[in-house]
Amino acid sequence: MAIELGEPDHPDIRDGVRALCARFSGAYWRAHDRDRTYPGEFVQALTEAGYLAALIPEDYGGSGLPLSAAAAILEEIHASGGNGAACHAQMYTMGTILRHGSAEQKRRWLPDIAAGRLRLQAFGVSEPSSGTDTLSLTTTARRDGDHYVIHGQKVWTSRAEHSDLMLLLARTTPRDRVTRKGEGLSVFVVDLRTATVGDPPPVVIRPIRTMINHATTEVFIDGLRVPADNLIGEEGKGFRYILDGMNAERILIAAECLGDARWFIDTARRYANERRVFGRPIGQNQGIQFPIARAYAQAQAAALMVRRAAALFEAGRPCGAEANMAKLLASEASWAAADMCLQTHGGYGFAEDYDVERKFRETRLYQIAPISTNLILAYLAEHVLGLPRSY
Ligand SMILES: Cc1cc2nc3c(=O)[nH]c(=O)nc-3n(C[C@H](O)[C@H](O)[C@H](O)COP(=O)(O)OP(=O)(O)OC[C@H]3O[C@@H](n4cnc5c(N)ncnc54)[C@H](O)[C@@H]3O)c2cc1C
Repeated sequence: MAIELGEPDHPDIRDGVRALCARFSGAYWRAHDRDRTYPGEFVQALTEAGYLAALIPEDYGGSGLPLSAAAAILEEIHASGGNGAACHAQMYTMGTILRHGSAEQKRRWLPDIAAGRLRLQAFGVSEPSSGTDTLSLTTTARRDGDHYVIHGQKVWTSRAEHSDLMLLLARTTPRDRVTRKGEGLSVFVVDLRTATVGDPPPVVIRPIRTMINHATTEVFIDGLRVPADNLIGEEGKGFRYILDGMNAERILIAAECLGDARWFIDTARRYANERRVFGRPIGQNQGIQFPIARAYAQAQAAALMVRRAAALFEAGRPCGAEANMAKLLASEASWAAADMCLQTHGGYGFAEDYDVERKFRETRLYQIAPISTNLILAYLAEHVLGLPRSY
C-alpha cells in the first residue's frame, strides 16, 4: 500500500523518478548529511535522466513539460526519502531568463542548462541586513562602459559552490531616486567560474554550516565586473522579474512538502504496524493511530490546494493567492507529519539510522524559506482579504 495524495498525475514520470530514487538509499542521504557534502551522484543521475530540464522548452533542448510535471518529480524525490533541494533550483531559476531574457541570452544559456553542461542553481537575493525586506537590499551595480561593477554581500545563497552561473539581484538606482518603490533593482547572470578566480577574486563564497545539508553560503562581492549583456531584461525592473517567478517556486516547494508528508505518514504507518509494545502493535492504540490519520487528512487537503495552484498556473490564470496558500498549507502539513512521525517512533525517532530525524530537520526549513509563513499570511491578509498593509 502506497500513500498517495489527491489524483496522482503524470504516473509515468512518477514511476521513473521512483525507480531512480531507489538507487539512492537512506544510507546515501545520511552519509552526505553527516559530512555536509553535496549529493553529486544523485544530481548527476537526475540530470542524465533529463528531469532537471523538465521546464525548459523543447526548442532549447528541454522537455517542455508543464509545472505539474516538475512538481510531480520533486514530490516523488521527497516521498522516496531524498531531498530535491540539492538541485531543485536548476529546474526553475532559468525561468527568469526564459521569461525576460533576450533571444540571444536564451540561445546562449538555455541549451547548456537543459543538457546539464551549465548549472544555474544559485539565486542571490537575501542579504544580511535586508532580510525579508528585499527592497532594502544594498548590493549595488554601477554601469561602467559595457560592464556593470558590483559590490555587496549576499547570504543564504544556496548551491553557489555547485553552480556555474548565479542569478543576482542588485540595486542599479539608489532607493531615494526611484519613483516607484519596486524599481531600481536589476537582475544579472553572474558567471561564477570566472568571478571566483583572481588574487583576490572579486567573488568569495563561504559555506554556512546549518542544521540541514543544504550547501548554503555567504557570497562576498567586491568590484565584480559583469558584461552589460548579462543584464536580464530592462535595468531597474528586476524586482518585478523576480516576483514573476515566485508563484512557480512556491508551488514546487509545496510539492516537496507533500512528498515529505507522504514519507512521514508512510514511515509512521509501517512502524506503528510493526513495533510491538505491551504485546500488540503500537498502531492499535488510538493515541498513535489518530495522529497518523490526522496527518494524512491534513496532507490530502494541502495536496488539493497544490494541484489547484498548479492548474491555475498552467492555464495562465492569476494564482498568487493559491500558490501562497499551497506553500503555507503544505509546509504546515509536512511539519505536522514530521512531528507525528517522530512521536510514533519514540526514542528510535532520534536514531540517525531511521532517517526520521534527518527528514524532520529538513522539512522544517519550508516554513522559513524561500518565504516565511508570516509573510505568506501578510500577503493573504492584504491582497486577498483587503486588510491594511502591516509592514
Ligand atoms: C537553508 C536556507 C537556504 C536559503 N536559500 C536561499 C537562496 O538560495 N537564495 C536567497 O536569496 N535566500 C535564501 N534563503 C533565505 C530565505 O529566503 C530567508 O531566510 C527568508 O526569506 C527569511 O528571511 P530572513 O532569514 O532574513 O528573516 P527575517 O526577515 O530576519 O525575519 C525573521 C522572522 O521575522 C518574521 N518577520 C519579518 N518581518 C515580518 C513582518 N513584517 N511581519 C511578520 N513577521 C515578520 C519572519 O517571518 C521571520 O519569521 C535561504 C534560507 C535558508 C535558511
